[in-house]
Amino acid sequence: MAEGEIAFPSWAEVNLGAIEANVKNVKAFIGDRVELIAVVKANAYGHGAIPVAQVALEAGASRLAVARVREGVKLRQAGINAPILVMSYIPLAEVPLAVQNDLTPTLITLEQAKAFSDEATKAGKTLPVHIKVDTGMGRFGLLPEEVEGFVKGVASLPGLALEGLYTHFSVADETSHDSTLYTLKQFETFMDVAKKLEGAGFHFPLKHACNSAATVRFPQMHLQAVRVGIILYGLRPSEEVEPPFPLVPALSLKSRVARVRTLPPGFPISYGRTYVTSRPTRVALVPVGYGDGYHRLASNRGFVLIRGARAPIVGRICMDQFVVDVSEVDGVAMEDEVVLIGEQGGQRIGAEEVARWAETINYEVVASLTSRLPRVYTKQGKIVGIS
Ligand SMILES: *Cc1c(COP(=O)(O)O)cnc(C)c1O
Repeated sequence: MAEGEIAFPSWAEVNLGAIEANVKNVKAFIGDRVELIAVVKANAYGHGAIPVAQVALEAGASRLAVARVREGVKLRQAGINAPILVMSYIPLAEVPLAVQNDLTPTLITLEQAKAFSDEATKAGKTLPVHIKVDTGMGRFGLLPEEVEGFVKGVASLPGLALEGLYTHFSVADETSHDSTLYTLKQFETFMDVAKKLEGAGFHFPLKHACNSAATVRFPQMHLQAVRVGIILYGLRPSEEVEPPFPLVPALSLKSRVARVRTLPPGFPISYGRTYVTSRPTRVALVPVGYGDGYHRLASNRGFVLIRGARAPIVGRICMDQFVVDVSEVDGVAMEDEVVLIGEQGGQRIGAEEVARWAETINYEVVASLTSRLPRVYTKQGKIVGIS
């Protein structure tokens, strides 16, 4: 891309063409009869919720999922009409906002269900609702034995329509025998609950269980819909899970050299003096910090790409900047492009590598990128939007 067009010291470049390709690949894999729910919580894992949601819906997703009501409201304000499932807790105070915006709640208490029923009735709406079964994640949702009583209560309330029944896997991304058995067990528990509810006359047209890892590994569990996040962004759920289709990483984190100079031997770099030069050292300043969401744990561990070479981070990462040693890289100059995540000159740093330095997972590396960092959206190498 003509990077001269970008006027920022640092930015996240999001290739919408990659998102489109990933969505199409997942859709082809699950087939026409299974709905694709694109998970765009946490600003679409840092990629920019609105453009990602729009592209995902154009490419074959039929629904969206978020974690917070406010995330759903932002999508509605952008003119998105597709069903939006809120997968986490909704405080009673947010119920009116959720109903006004036609968000699909995951109901968890009868008190909350009544509040949704009242709001929907007042608005003259019938609100589709989903119910989550906790089959062994120990987090959100109702225990299997609690579900039937709860569903009876919900079904008796006006203004609500039972639409979805779902569960979530805790170790679908682990391919060991033990973890695989656990996922199979969770699924069996879920299907038992579903069967019991059908027997009692409660019909859920949309049963769903699979996250990205389970979608890839267990086609027999796709049911009527899958909830996929990480693979839409071109990232793997774990090192162990290898999809039978290509994933194109969509996000690059880029910056520009803000200063180059040579420091004498014995010169400490950055807070805490954790790095001291041992010889005349050519250093470049990179204007990215933990205020942009670049993890401080990469201090004295990580690398960036400059002129197609890997330059080590020296000293601590600060809120707005850090220093790299470019003694081994020829000709580094002000405003040279710096790649923190992505490709340059045939070299590549993946979100997975940054995750190792930061002692975390690729999910957190991308989802951590803050709102200060401009998002530059591209398609076929051309800039199509900035937010
Ligand atoms: C985040 C989330 C997903 C998506 O998980 P991926 O591993 O990114 O595919 C699916 N379901 C629930 C309930 C989630 O919270």
